Amino acid sequence: MYNKTLVELREEIVTKKVSSYELTKYFLERIKKFDKEINSFITITEEYALKTAKKIDQEISKNNMRALSGIPLAQKDIFCTENVKTTCGSKMLESFVSPYDATVVKKLKNAGSVMLGKTNMDEFAMGSSNETSFFGEVKNPWNFEYVPGGSSGGSASSVAARLVPCSTGTDTGGSIRQPASLCGVSGIKPTYGRVSRYGMIAFASSLDQAGVFAKTAKDCALLLTEIAGYDEKDSTSAEEKVINYFDICTKKFKPITIGVPEEFLDGLDNEVRKVFDDAIEIFKKEGCKIKKINLSNSKLGVSAYQVVAPAECSSNLSRYDGVRYGYRAKNVSDLEDLYKRSRSEGFGKEVKRRILVGTYALSAGYYDAYYLKAQKIRQLITNDFLEAFKNVDLILGPTTPDTAFKIGSKANDPIAMYLSDVYTVSANLAGLPAMSIPMGFKNELPLGLQIIGSHFDEDKILSLASHFQEITNWHDHQPKQKLLGLD
Ligand code: GLN
Repeated sequence: MYNKTLVELREEIVTKKVSSYELTKYFLERIKKFDKEINSFITITEEYALKTAKKIDQEISKNNMRALSGIPLAQKDIFCTENVKTTCGSKMLESFVSPYDATVVKKLKNAGSVMLGKTNMDEFAMGSSNETSFFGEVKNPWNFEYVPGGSSGGSASSVAARLVPCSTGTDTGGSIRQPASLCGVSGIKPTYGRVSRYGMIAFASSLDQAGVFAKTAKDCALLLTEIAGYDEKDSTSAEEKVINYFDICTKKFKPITIGVPEEFLDGLDNEVRKVFDDAIEIFKKEGCKIKKINLSNSKLGVSAYQVVAPAECSSNLSRYDGVRYGYRAKNVSDLEDLYKRSRSEGFGKEVKRRILVGTYALSAGYYDAYYLKAQKIRQLITNDFLEAFKNVDLILGPTTPDTAFKIGSKANDPIAMYLSDVYTVSANLAGLPAMSIPMGFKNELPLGLQIIGSHFDEDKILSLASHFQEITNWHDHQPKQKLLGLD
């Protein structure tokens, strides 16, 4: 059962081969039995899930089907969930219970899905390895000595470990695509504004975007169709019509023109290059035209991102002051002491580093030198993409420069850690949709293929991705781990 896709599970539910209750119970048992190996969940919502599943089964018995009736899923713990703890991976929100659901959560509930729990993540989504979580590091199901990527590491590893068929994530600079790549699953970050950010705890508001993880692109398409769309509660959400992305994936694939940025291949590891070239060969055989393109400003992406994201985070995280909600220091002497100690004790090292960098970059006298300059670079990066999309339909490259790295190996070297996002941050800076799908292995660790589209071209991305998965089986590979009940 664990290796079935969403599309298959939906079929089993529709044809009443399995009930929502049975499915929910089955995956809950897997989580309870095996998650201790990888720590991908912060909260398991067993009681809620079983109750919801029963309700869904009653609906199904009356032939009242919704798009995702009975589908078990996990929510990244950055999405507010009514009556269920939302920690954002931080001590600051260790016992925070939101009074309302994020729009993404609400939409997935309305579609009939069943939430099994909340997944582990880097604190406030800041990280590329899931080592900064207050709730402990997450392990890569392919090899427990390696990181799953971050910040949505719990969401990616839980799907890779087959503890849940799909999950949600957020991507500010790569946090869906990079863990999807390192864990060998599919993950899509839609266009900025495609999915509502309401109720999604803010890291860097001009970059944050919600998306999903699943085994296949078709599964991602099913989920995206449900969460996409305008939301009056998010002023940056786009009034763009929602397409049925799943239907798009079932249509016959028409060859397209693919751009490959030279900057993404320069100095790339030989084995990663070989795996990527093999993927490109497949598209050539399918009749696609491959064009070399230049995204010359993308090499400045990480530098610009590491100014813009911390600047926005320093502003967003100022709300955690020990007064309104979140952690409050004890025995304080006065108001200033309350602010200082609540924030010093409530936030971890990486979050503090970002707040310091961001506050500095926004301060009088440095604003022009850092923040304004970074914003100008951001525009140049966007212009490169817009220019490229005049001649190509989609842009392809590796998602990450290499496979997963060992736990601890970059934890004390922030620059090395930030560079793992070198291929992903540019899409966020330009607000573009992008996806990672499995494309092969190096030393028995998965590698992801990144597909970047023009604004609101999620349909093109998903169509290409699902076609690739019709002719390859990289997405079917799963970790052979007895400790995860996988053989
Ligand atoms: N790894 C990047 C960072 O540390 C991106 C995080 C994200 O996308 N949330 O900021």
